[in-house]
Amino acid sequence: MVDKGIIAFNIFKDYKMLIDGHGRKVNYLRISVTERCNFRCQYCMPEKPFSWVPKENLLTFEDLFLFVKVGIDEGINKIRITGGEPLLRADLDKFIKMISDYRSDLDLALTTNGYLLKPLAKKLKDAGLKRINISLDTLKPEIAKKISQKDVLAKVLAGIEEALKVGLKVKLNTVPLKGINDGEILDLLEFAKSKNMAIRYIEYMENKFAKDKLQGLNEQEVQDIISKKYNFKAIGRIESSPAHLFELEDGYRFGIIDPHKHDFCEDCNRIRLTAEGMLIPCLYFDEAMSIKEAVQNGDIEAAANVLKVVLKNKPEKNKWSNDGENETSERAFYETGG
Ligand code: SAM
Repeated sequence: MVDKGIIAFNIFKDYKMLIDGHGRKVNYLRISVTERCNFRCQYCMPEKPFSWVPKENLLTFEDLFLFVKVGIDEGINKIRITGGEPLLRADLDKFIKMISDYRSDLDLALTTNGYLLKPLAKKLKDAGLKRINISLDTLKPEIAKKISQKDVLAKVLAGIEEALKVGLKVKLNTVPLKGINDGEILDLLEFAKSKNMAIRYIEYMENKFAKDKLQGLNEQEVQDIISKKYNFKAIGRIESSPAHLFELEDGYRFGIIDPHKHDFCEDCNRIRLTAEGMLIPCLYFDEAMSIKEAVQNGDIEAAANVLKVVLKNKPEKNKWSNDGENETSERAFYETGG
């Protein structure tokens, strides 16, 4: 019997397992290394004015790493670095190397908008990064500018090319928006497919920082568009991933993430850490606990204790699932990394 909410038991010699208060295995830590971003995507951030958390409030990579070690020792085997825009943080490759050197068999991934990626891709790969998710909402420069409030597309595409060239596994993230990029669902699918990349369409999640009146395409609407050209079958979700997968006749798979469906709560395996050291059990809940004092004191036991309490309190369902209506998230995706 697994002791719920407790950093639990050894299955093999040096592999532990983390179990939350609802008996779910938690093995995935997402770390937002900065809330700052060089884009102002309409669906994520207000245009301006904008006040960032002062840099001195951010945990150093050494502090974050202390918690990462605790997490890995207790059963985390999948880590994603995100943001804000994680490539804005200097020496990110060194942080990745610290993690990779500690445990080389981790599933170590990064989510980025790709703008700064071209000169960094090889360094990141050499440091131990295995996979990279790159946000790409459009293949049209003027639409990219409209969404992100900046002329970004050429650099993002160059970043994607470089990531592929250095041998990183690349997945594209696309947020389909009505009247903005909904005419490009197929083009983006074909672009990803032609370069052997995966693509996930993420349903727009309402949040109080996004521009008013944005409307996302839902899962069915994305499927309807793709079905005009391709036959595909549903595969379902795989291994706690929130994405519903679909397979074209030639075997290529694409995914759609529908956070409004909230069917992924039952096997949710993730926790999130912000750059300020808040450990968040669920993207759609405000409750969180700080690891800051523990890691700044080098207190491994205290850090492990915060992890234990956060796991015990991880909610069974996200708050969107209460009444089936879309609630607006109070927490910024650029703070948690989405
Ligand atoms: N800056 C990086 C990037 O652009 O990928 C990492 C952070 S960003 C918050 C992570 C992902 O969240 C991106 O793929 C972005 O498209 C997605 N995202 C942000 N706001 C969203 C929203 N309101 N609805 C759906 N996805 C969103």
